[in-house]
Amino acid sequence: MTGQAACELEPTPAQARLLDELAVRESAMIARVAAWSRINSGSRHRQGLDRMRSTLMQAFAELGGEMEELALPAGEVVEPNGTLRSVEYAPAIRIRCRPQATVRVALTGHYDTVFPAESAFQDVAEGAPGTLVGPGVADMKGGLVVMLESLRCFERSPGAEHLGWAVLISPDEELGSPGSCHVLTHLGKWAHVGMTYEPASPDGSLAGARKGSGSFVLVARGKAAHAGREHQVGRNAVVAAARFAAGLAELDGTRDGVTFNVAKVEGGGPVNVVPDLGICRFGIRFPTDADARWAEAEIGRLVDTTCTRHGITAQVKGGFTRPPKPMAPANRQLFDFTRAIGNVLGLDLAWHDTGGVCEGNNLWAAGCPNVDTLGVRGGALHSSEEYVVLSSLVERTRLSALILMKMASGAFDARRLRVPGLGGAPQNSTASPGGEASAFRGERTLSEPGRGLPFLCPLLETGH
Ligand SMILES: [Zn+2]
Repeated sequence: MTGQAACELEPTPAQARLLDELAVRESAMIARVAAWSRINSGSRHRQGLDRMRSTLMQAFAELGGEMEELALPAGEVVEPNGTLRSVEYAPAIRIRCRPQATVRVALTGHYDTVFPAESAFQDVAEGAPGTLVGPGVADMKGGLVVMLESLRCFERSPGAEHLGWAVLISPDEELGSPGSCHVLTHLGKWAHVGMTYEPASPDGSLAGARKGSGSFVLVARGKAAHAGREHQVGRNAVVAAARFAAGLAELDGTRDGVTFNVAKVEGGGPVNVVPDLGICRFGIRFPTDADARWAEAEIGRLVDTTCTRHGITAQVKGGFTRPPKPMAPANRQLFDFTRAIGNVLGLDLAWHDTGGVCEGNNLWAAGCPNVDTLGVRGGALHSSEEYVVLSSLVERTRLSALILMKMASGAFDARRLRVPGLGGAPQNSTASPGGEASAFRGERTLSEPGRGLPFLCPLLETGH
């Protein structure tokens, strides 16, 4: 940022007063993180998700704005017997405020966690000094508290009327956003800028460029036979799936930044039966769209080889579900702005590239530059030692609130960041965010030997 811009980013006296007042909110914020963490909202725990959602709706109601529960389309999982099963998702929460304002911001987060109902990790406890340990305290119940408090603070600031916002809180981020991806896309097309509340690192640094991710399941079908009497007529699908997995492992490391992770190979049964079903579940991370196309071609080649060699048929389900989010100029400018706001508040914000993926990937694919680690500082995510650094609650709330204030005042022009050609121009101000089909996820059908790779099964769960 230039020196002049930096000085424009200093809070005005009225803004400074509101930011200072956040200190008295700290104990209420901590209590809220603890209470929310104690509600188990594992991605598969529907009752817990319902309870968490109604708790959130009560809390967020104080912001005003139009709140609704959005039903999400069902997804699919491949069962161990090779069949597809439909899975339902809990509704997402969407809140809209001044959708026709000049500057439009999408704030996103998730209310599911990776901890299932039967997890042993259900309660909060004091951790190292100044920290609280608990399920989802950082990822991302603490982040949701930061989102709520910063909007609460922002709404009281002079000039707030120039900025419209939409909040989306989804139930399925930890599954790869299979149900909410379409809503994210639509929101990303509506907004000039995205703010997502994944946790920052314990030292405060943010995630920079993110790889894209894809998740696939190979279902190989052979021919069962008596292993003693007619072994020669059998077609062993477990061996085929295993050879396919080995082929993926060999691809790993052959192209810069692209990784193949064989997660599970399953199938088969008694030792006297040639197995007719083999399943290989695998994931891919990749830095660019070109890498995804390369990986796709390689998988297609492997599928064909597997089928030909073993005399089996194979189907691949899945797809590239989150596109890469590079540190493109628009994202870079938003980071620079965020960093400058941090400076004003006494924070030194660095960022690091990551292979992890989140809703920020989806927003970017819709042309919406975003910073996606505006939540609390925390660590040991997805483990029973997950913790939040308590002082970061007020610290990160001040950061988000001042970001919003400076975008509303025009000190930072969020509107110029939209990326032409990515996800289309922002929709006109009468459009409402959410609810339209995504262009990114196309239907993909099953593959046959020699016919190349199928493409996206739109709703297959992917993990994160
Ligand atoms: Zn998360």
